[in-house]
Amino acid sequence: MNTRSLGFRLVAWYAGVLTVVFMLLGLLTVLFLRHYLEANLLDIQARRASQIGATLVAHATRANETWLGAQVETLYSPEANDRFIRITHADGALVYASGTPHDARFDPADVPPPAGGAGVRKLEIPGGALLIAARTADGADGTRYLIEVGTSAAASEATLAHVLMLLAIGLPITVAITVAGGFVLVRRALAPVERMGLKAEAISQHNLSERLPVVHSGDQLERLSVSLNHMIERLEQAIHSSKQFVADASHELRTPLTVMRGELEALAQDARLHGETREALGSVLEEVDRLSEIVEGLFALSRLDAGEAHSEWVRFDLAELVGSTAAQMSLLAEDKQVSLTCMVATPAFVTGDRARLKQVVVNLLDNAIKYTPPGGQVSLSVRREGATAVFEVSDSGCGIPAEALPHVFERFFRVDGSRSRERGGAGLGLSIVKSICTAHGAAVEVSSVAGAGSTFRVRHPLATDVDGEVP
Ligand code: ADP
Repeated sequence: MNTRSLGFRLVAWYAGVLTVVFMLLGLLTVLFLRHYLEANLLDIQARRASQIGATLVAHATRANETWLGAQVETLYSPEANDRFIRITHADGALVYASGTPHDARFDPADVPPPAGGAGVRKLEIPGGALLIAARTADGADGTRYLIEVGTSAAASEATLAHVLMLLAIGLPITVAITVAGGFVLVRRALAPVERMGLKAEAISQHNLSERLPVVHSGDQLERLSVSLNHMIERLEQAIHSSKQFVADASHELRTPLTVMRGELEALAQDARLHGETREALGSVLEEVDRLSEIVEGLFALSRLDAGEAHSEWVRFDLAELVGSTAAQMSLLAEDKQVSLTCMVATPAFVTGDRARLKQVVVNLLDNAIKYTPPGGQVSLSVRREGATAVFEVSDSGCGIPAEALPHVFERFFRVDGSRSRERGGAGLGLSIVKSICTAHGAAVEVSSVAGAGSTFRVRHPLATDVDGEVP
């Protein structure tokens, strides 16, 4: 469980606050209930004392106090009812005192006389608490009596203990249910954020026209989704204008470069030129050639970025295309004394732009020959793996260092600028390969060991027949 997540922290706070509130509420309930139960019991005792005063003590005289005791005994049976009843004179002399109650919760002998006459009190005695109300009443002969009636607080304590137990069981259960509910609520509340995150993850420069789902909640979440969408829109515009700029610039540069090349070639034919001038002209021509190649590369990339129409797509045999391209380029390999082997026995029909896919073969093969020293080997193969045509170019050349491998398909990336430059590369060949593959739903990957050679592998989906089956 992620304890730093918003969901966890929200629920933890929620559970913490809830527990404190519930505990306070429980405490208040117990305190209130204790007060209420005791006040109620004391009230009952006080009314009983007043009743004894009015019905019995009012008829008593010093002469018939034994009658008084007997009447209390008969009418109230204090021992049988677990009650405490005591009648004394105002000076404290005992007239009547009940005996030990049935439940033997207290001993009446332990009960001291009240300090302030009439009133109510709670007395802690061995065996528990006693709630006692005292009332004064005058006898028939004017003698003042103090009547005390009490009962054990055990029953109210038992009720309180019961309530406390219920709270102790109920509180954790209630908190657990609310925490579980809180988790569900938080998860539901954060679900749109999760969806936005997943969508944002899926948006790249290739699908910048897509937008995050807008949460119509009218709160910060809605504002966030709308603001992020505005940001993506601005990014889309910025990327679009920079792509447009590259497309326009490369397009505009193509014609003047072609004219320059033509004129320079015509100039180089002039027999009147001195040796040095001819050499300088030759090197300028080479640079113009390189420049044209870069501009052509950029133009091709900008067209691929813009997403070419599929009108040029046909069904053709990739194995045949690789074979014929290898045959056309074998002279290049021969010139460099590199042995070129091609294993393309099985036909592998694919659907795509034949010219573009030929460019993939040319670029990969050209690199393999370019970066393999004389005496080395380059091999090409096309095979079928399930519903995929796998085209592979391996060489025994200089290889690519591990740290450069993740970058070789980036634009203008060259492992070693000087090495690549002197062989005429500008670092666009592999990015064109990657763009063409992406446009065809194919994947290109590279594995290489520096100094031992490289293998480039293109996995292109095989064409399906009318039934959608791979023939
Ligand atoms: P370039 O036109 O400069 O060759 P690429 O995009 O075709 O540009 O290749 C990028 C870099 O990858 C090159 O600079 C080169 O160093 C390296 N590279 C490509 N293919 C190979 C290969 N077969 N063997 C070794 N290095 C290679």
